[in-house]
Amino acid sequence: MKPRYLVLALVLLLGLAPLVLPSFQVTLLNYIGLYTLVVLGLILLTGVGGMTSFGQAAFVGLGAYASAYLTTTEQLPGWLAWAGASPWLALLIGILLTASVALLLGALTLKLSGHYLPLGTIAWGISLYYLFGTLDGLGGQSGVSDLPPISLFGLALDKGNKIFYLIWALLLLAILITQNLLNSREGRAIRALKGGQVMAESMGVNTFRSKMVIFLIAALFAAVSGWLYAHTQRFVNPTPFGLHMGIDYLFMALIGGVGSVWGALLGAGILTMLKQWLQDWLPSLLGSQGNYETIVFGLLIVLLMQRAPGGLWPMLVRLVPSRHRPRTQAPAANAQLGELPRRELPKKGTLILEAREVTKRFGGLVANDRMNLSVHAGEILALIGPNGAGKSTMFNQLSGVDVPSDGEVRFLGEKINGVPSRRIARMGMSRTFQHVKLLPTMSVLENVAIGAHLRGSKGVVPATLHLERTEEAELLDEARRQLERVGLGDYLYEEAGSLALGQQRILEIARALCADPCLLLLDEPAAGLRHKEKQALAELLRRLRGEGMAILLVEHDMDFVMGLVDRVVVMEFGQKIAEGLPEDIQKNPAVLEAYLGGAE
Ligand code: ADP
Ligand code: MG
Repeated sequence: MKPRYLVLALVLLLGLAPLVLPSFQVTLLNYIGLYTLVVLGLILLTGVGGMTSFGQAAFVGLGAYASAYLTTTEQLPGWLAWAGASPWLALLIGILLTASVALLLGALTLKLSGHYLPLGTIAWGISLYYLFGTLDGLGGQSGVSDLPPISLFGLALDKGNKIFYLIWALLLLAILITQNLLNSREGRAIRALKGGQVMAESMGVNTFRSKMVIFLIAALFAAVSGWLYAHTQRFVNPTPFGLHMGIDYLFMALIGGVGSVWGALLGAGILTMLKQWLQDWLPSLLGSQGNYETIVFGLLIVLLMQRAPGGLWPMLVRLVPSRHRPRTQAPAANAQLGELPRRELPKKGTLILEAREVTKRFGGLVANDRMNLSVHAGEILALIGPNGAGKSTMFNQLSGVDVPSDGEVRFLGEKINGVPSRRIARMGMSRTFQHVKLLPTMSVLENVAIGAHLRGSKGVVPATLHLERTEEAELLDEARRQLERVGLGDYLYEEAGSLALGQQRILEIARALCADPCLLLLDEPAAGLRHKEKQALAELLRRLRGEGMAILLVEHDMDFVMGLVDRVVVMEFGQKIAEGLPEDIQKNPAVLEAYLGGAE
C-alpha cells in the first residue's frame, strides 16, 4: 500500500473508534493523541535537530495552566477579561505566552553545547513546574478545577468521545505541518543541524535561527497538547507537568524512533498501552500490590534501547516492501519553471580574494605565518604543500570558518575577518570540505539543494502550509541541474552516504555551485577520484574558469594541479615558500626540497 492509503486508513479507523470502542479505550486513545502531540515536537527537536530536551512537560503545563486560569478566574484583570470568555481565546493567550517563554529560554539555553543543553532544559523544566505549584491564583498543589469544555460550532466537547475528534484532528494537522516543514528549504536547514552545522553555515544557513524555530514549534505543540488536556480533564494540577513526565516524553520519542514523524505516534502508543497493561496485570500476576510496573517498565526500556537503538519505527518500515518507501519528489521537468536568478560575475581579472599577512597560531604552533595570496576572476590558483603545511588552516581563514590571529582577508574589497561564514557565503563565496561534510541519510538531490539555501526566501510559515511549491521546485531543479553538470545526474535519489568517496567530493562541488558563487574554494577535490573522474573534474573546472569564476584549490595531486591551474602558491611549515606559474614551480629547488627532501 502507498503511504497515502495507510494514512487514509488510519483516519477512517480513528473516525470510527469513538463509535465502537468502550469509553475507557477512547480515553486511552485521547491520552495517546495528547502525548503524541508533545512527542512530535520532541522528534523535531531531538530526533531531527539533535537537541535533547527534558523540559517539554513544562510547556504542556504552560498551555494547560494559561487556559485553566483564564477560563475559571472570576475577576480577570481588565485587559485580559476578553480572553476568559472561551477556551479558544485562552488558547491564543496560551500560545503567545508559551512562545514568549520559549523564545526567552531558547535564547538562554540553545547556545549551550554538549551535556549543558539537556541540563539546561532540566533546570527550566523544574523551575516552571514549581512555578505552577506556587503562583497565586493557580490553586497550589490541589490545582484548578471546573474548567469549561471546549465548544466547536456550538457543540460542547464535554465527553471523551467528542473531544477525541478535536485531539486527533489537531494531531494529524501537526503531523502534516511537520512533514511539510521537513520537506522544504527551511527543513533541509533544520535537518542539517544534526551533524552538519559547519557545512550549513557555510551554505548561508543561520543555524541558531533554525534551532530556535524547532524549539518554538516543539514548545507550541506541547502547549496545545496541554490546552487540550486541561479541557479534557476539566481539571489541572502540577503533577503531570513535572520532570518525570518530561522524561517519559523523551522515552516515547526514543522508543518510537527519533528520526521519524510517525515514530511519535508509535512511541506514545506503545508506552501508554504498556504502562496501562503492566499496571493492570502485574499485581495479579505477582500476587501482591506495589509499584512493580515502574521497575518492569524500566527494564523493558533498557532492553528496547539495546535491541533497537534507532527506535521501533525504522524496524517497522523495514518490514514494508521498500518499493514504496517515501522519497523526495522528482523535480518535474517543467517548462514553466523559471530558472533562479544568477549573480553577475565580476569581469575577468578582477581581484576577488586577497590574504594580507595572515597568521594563525594554535597555542605555540604557528600554522599560518604571514601568508599573502590573491585570486582573480577567471583564474584557478592552487595552494599546495606537503601534509601539515597549513593549507587547510589557511583555507578556513579564507572562508570564515576560523578567524586569523593576525593579518586580514579581503573578499570583493571587504575585510571579512570575523564575519560569520554564512554572511561570506551570501557575498558569493562557496566551498567544499577536505573531510566531506554531507548528510548521509538525505538524498543526493536534497544535499545539493542545501547549497541553494540563499537563493530561496520562503520561510517557515509558507513551508508548513506547503505554499512554497514553485520556489521549492525551482530550488530542487537547480540542484538537479548542478548534479547533471558534474556528472551525478544518475544518483539524484540515492542516499548521499551510499556514494563512493570520490562521488561525495563531486557532490560537494555541485552543492557549492548551487549557491551561484563568484569564488569557489575546493579543499583537495581530486582526492579519492579515479583517473577518468579527475579528467572530468579538470574539464569542469576549466569550463567554470572560462565563465569567469575565481577558483582556489588546495591539492595534493601534483599531476592534477600542474596541467590545470594558472598559478601556484607553495606552503611549507605555515609559510609561503614559492609562488608562480606551474612550469616554474615544478623546477623550483625549494619546492622540490619540500616535496622530496622529507621522503628520504
Ligand atoms: P594541511 O592542510 O596543509 O595538511 P593543516 O592546515 O591541516 O595542514 O595543519 C597545519 C598544522 O596546524 C598541523 O601541524 C596541524 O596539526 C595544526 N592544526 C590544524 N588545526 C589545528 C587546530 N584546530 N588546533 C591545533 N592545531 C591545529
Ligand atoms: Mg588539509
